[in-house]
Amino acid sequence: MITRKYLLKFPEKAVGKPLIYHLVKDYDLTVNIYRAKIDPDDIGYMVLDVSGRESDIERAKIFFDENEIIVTETMNGMRWDKERCVSCGTCITHCPSNALYIVDRKTMEVSFNNEKCIECMNCISHCPFKACSSIFNSSISE
Ligand code: SF4
Ligand code: SF4
Repeated sequence: MITRKYLLKFPEKAVGKPLIYHLVKDYDLTVNIYRAKIDPDDIGYMVLDVSGRESDIERAKIFFDENEIIVTETMNGMRWDKERCVSCGTCITHCPSNALYIVDRKTMEVSFNNEKCIECMNCISHCPFKACSSIFNSSISE
């Protein structure tokens, strides 16, 4: 059993399709959706974990391809901009998973662990320097 984190971008014609149903029923996968959005141009975005046998995940990727769904691995709905971060520490107490954490108690440098982020988006509203943002509030590069 393995887990992959994906950002899916799906075209207008795939938006109405029962994507999750197919992943569960046809590919025997477990799905944990963090975020989903359809933009004004009817392009859909979804951040999710997909768990199952590697062979089934590979089969599901063919299904994504067939439906012109663009898959980006290990990408979060939350983005942390290291250049903007001034390590003020404001976000630390608002991050429930310690994805934002203090690297070194002496320097109080803050960093971000993508693997721990649970996409709660608390940090976005609490960061005074806009170092945290959501991909759903900005354009997504492929
Ligand atoms: S989105 Fe939530 S879990 Fe992820 S870094 Fe921000 S506060 Fe932490
Ligand atoms: S609140 Fe923003 S600027 Fe301050 S440590 Fe967190 S991410 Fe960096």
